Amino acid sequence: MSDNELNSEINRRRTFAIISHPDAGKTTLTEKLLLYGGAIHLAGSVKSRKAQRHAVSDWMEIEKQRGISVTSSVMQFDYDGYRINILDTPGHQDFSEDTYRTLMAVDSAVMIIDVAKGVETQTQKLFKVCKQRGIPIFTFVNKLDRFGKNPFELMEELEKVLEIRAYPMNWPIGVDGAYQGVYNRQLAQIELFDGAGSQGQKVLPSVVGSVGDPVFSEMLGSGVHQALCDDIELLDMAGDSFDLEKVRQGELTPMFFGSAMTNFGVRNFLEQFLRLAPAPAPRLSSAGLVQPADSKFSAFVFKIQANMNPAHRDRLAFIRICSGKFTRGMAVLHNQSGKLLKLAQPQQFLAQERTIIDEAYPGDIVGLFDPGVFGIGDTLHEQGQAFTFADFPVFPPEKFARVQAKDTMKRKQFVKGITQLTQEGAVQLFRQADAGMESYIVGTVGSLQFDVLEYRLKNEYGVDILMNHLPYELARWLVGAEVKPKSLRGADRGMFVYDVKERPVLLVSNEWALRWVADNNPAVEFFPTPAVR
Ligand code: GDP
Repeated sequence: MSDNELNSEINRRRTFAIISHPDAGKTTLTEKLLLYGGAIHLAGSVKSRKAQRHAVSDWMEIEKQRGISVTSSVMQFDYDGYRINILDTPGHQDFSEDTYRTLMAVDSAVMIIDVAKGVETQTQKLFKVCKQRGIPIFTFVNKLDRFGKNPFELMEELEKVLEIRAYPMNWPIGVDGAYQGVYNRQLAQIELFDGAGSQGQKVLPSVVGSVGDPVFSEMLGSGVHQALCDDIELLDMAGDSFDLEKVRQGELTPMFFGSAMTNFGVRNFLEQFLRLAPAPAPRLSSAGLVQPADSKFSAFVFKIQANMNPAHRDRLAFIRICSGKFTRGMAVLHNQSGKLLKLAQPQQFLAQERTIIDEAYPGDIVGLFDPGVFGIGDTLHEQGQAFTFADFPVFPPEKFARVQAKDTMKRKQFVKGITQLTQEGAVQLFRQADAGMESYIVGTVGSLQFDVLEYRLKNEYGVDILMNHLPYELARWLVGAEVKPKSLRGADRGMFVYDVKERPVLLVSNEWALRWVADNNPAVEFFPTPAVR
């Protein structure tokens, strides 16, 4: 393959995630985007997945029981020459860690905001991760067909709560939160809701190419038209100017108003987004930046999912391709184990439908059968190379429980199950200092993860467990010469444990207890994650 071909494959790729607070409209928007890509049957599956409370993901019953999506899926489709990869993220806050990892694998994010609710808590958390990564964020203000907040107020919220400036690409028409449509700032045209229209909108182009066109006044009534003219004048004069560089740096968010459900403004959003969003970017590795157009293949694992299909009992590692071309059957080096692996049955995902793929390019997500060697954040590259991609963030656990097998005869399966689920990143595992090996201490970011752990150990490994929740909320990795339970003053105020790499960790119930221990052990340093050093 020539450099040109590789470049053009890279440049047409858009890999992104949609982030939002539950109920803002992520499922609905995803479905509409898929429809435009011609993936109609898929759009149906997204919908039915929601409607039947995730019946499609029957490999994980717990999703059905709770009616939430606990893992991310990947959807690929084409539109207008672009190859689009949407990485779906679970909306429930207890699974934020999985979502955070997914955000490591995207080049941009679409943030959905409910026009009536504004910036909500979950959006805020996810936004922060995108901001830290410096990835471009596009804002879709949804549910414009309903009563909503004043758009200036929403812009102010973005600036105050998320600390990002917004550039409205279009602007709601209507006063006091009762909207009739939008004004498209670039095209100087008015787009009105049209229930009967195929795209949910009626487009009124301006003849004079400006919002002041008297034609609009006739259509809207002079009061509404005047209010719109005043808003646009204010935006043009006092608002930020459009600056693609700032968008690419994650400092300015293009803001779109629309309604996913009625399909209003969705096509325009998609087209503008594809034009402005970045193609796969270079990635930082231990050997410097890896360029996507580098002819040598490289990728990293951002997610591991065991037992997706109960009939197969398989384990999949999801990789994001960073450089070069991927071909079926190619042999690559797994950096962390030093093993040479033949990638024989690569899979790609359309929601929950799998297909075997022959080739893939930077920006694409591929599912690989995991022979049990992969860990989250691992690097794959060609033979003769040696580098790792920059470390994945580890999120500090906040909930802890002691877990053991109910039936001691099942200890072997128990250890196998809990070890695999730890490798998947579902939970973090610790062993209590000076305690026997029959129980483990498990740490999670949210309490629902305990239910998932219990459910999966029973269903996938046949092990019933006993679980005792512990009163700790903070974990601190301890660094200092010879940190031992006996030498740490006040260790009995919390619990002294070791992580899977035998690093000492102290679990305590609150900041106050932590401060006491820290004050009494000046030679020891306390870190919230193992990576911060
Ligand atoms: P998710 O939890 O973010 O995936 O949200 P959904 O896409 O499931 O939407 C949540 C609810 O909002 C559903 O009842 C949708 O029908 C509704 N909804 C989504 N988009 C719109 C919209 O544009 N207008 C209105 N009025 N409702 C919407």
